[in-house]
Amino acid sequence: MKNILVIGATGQIGSELTMKLRSIYGNDHVVAGYIVGAEPKGELAESGPAEVCDVTDGEAIERIVTKYNIDAIYNLAALLSVVAEHKPLLAWHIGIDGLIKVLEVARQHNCFVFTPSSIGSFGPETPADQTPQDTIQRPRTIYGVSKVTTELLSDYYHRKYGIETRSVRFPGLISNVTPPGGGTTDYAVDIYYSAVRGEKFVCPIAQGTYMDMMYMPDALNACVQLMEADASRLVHYNGFNIASMSFAPEEIFAAIKKYRPAFEMEYNVDPLKQSIANSWPNSLDDSAARTEWDWKPSFDLDTMTQDMLEKLSARLLK
Ligand code: NAD
Repeated sequence: MKNILVIGATGQIGSELTMKLRSIYGNDHVVAGYIVGAEPKGELAESGPAEVCDVTDGEAIERIVTKYNIDAIYNLAALLSVVAEHKPLLAWHIGIDGLIKVLEVARQHNCFVFTPSSIGSFGPETPADQTPQDTIQRPRTIYGVSKVTTELLSDYYHRKYGIETRSVRFPGLISNVTPPGGGTTDYAVDIYYSAVRGEKFVCPIAQGTYMDMMYMPDALNACVQLMEADASRLVHYNGFNIASMSFAPEEIFAAIKKYRPAFEMEYNVDPLKQSIANSWPNSLDDSAARTEWDWKPSFDLDTMTQDMLEKLSARLLK
């Protein structure tokens, strides 16, 4: 990959992924695609090229791909799970009509494409513990339905046209840079902000609810590693399970309390978030990713907690 377009570059993942890609491939070689109203700011805006790029506008995507001689597209445009339940048609339009536009441009210009799936692609019938790579996927949310479709469409374009479409199923991502965009696992980010601000945290997810989570540096490494992986080793292409930690609210609370003994938490369960969380796996089996492209995370709950508290304290208490 020489020239890369990131669509949705100002979101939670995109804002950090774009900077990581620029550090690897060179600032001028990574275009930050954004929509009006979500313009890049600060270092993201200043360090490299940026273009308005609505994922549902195929002509705009094609113009940027031609202008910068793009050979890889990271398509991060989406509405996250909770927001999507309130706007299902828009979620489908961005997630699937948009994906088709990206895949068609990729077909014409022979680009690699990365469009993330999610633990939201699983449903209540999926085996919840150590969820296998290949298993039943009957999600109940529009987010999940669009993620299963994303995996299938991406595989279809790979098999039919030979396009290098590759993706992972991200768990809930925890980061200290850009706040999350309205997902079911957002609580695991919000809790650190409360701890650092010295506020009591009100948890919207019930005690005992396990979900897979990951620290952003590991998630970013997964994107780059999979896109650079040797094609001859890949058996799967789209929707690799990746995992690093699984915890319930009381466990992340205890991990933080170890370093902030005065921290307090109470529960006020949000019915929509809880029903989505209940339909998602407790933990994933990521052995296919480990075997096919050497996936290996480096953070666990304790090391992530130390890093989150240190980085957020430095920024918020400045
Ligand atoms: P986010 O909500 O923070 O960012 C989404 C980005 O898409 C934003 O920059 C937004 O401006 C942009 N966008 C919205 N409509 C658009 C359009 N029409 N055209 C182009 N861009 C548009 O989401 P994120 O957390 O960065 O997620 C990125 C991808 O990763 C999504 O596919 C999401 O489903 C997936 N994912 C994220 C997580 C997580 O925990 N963050 C977990 C699993 C999967």
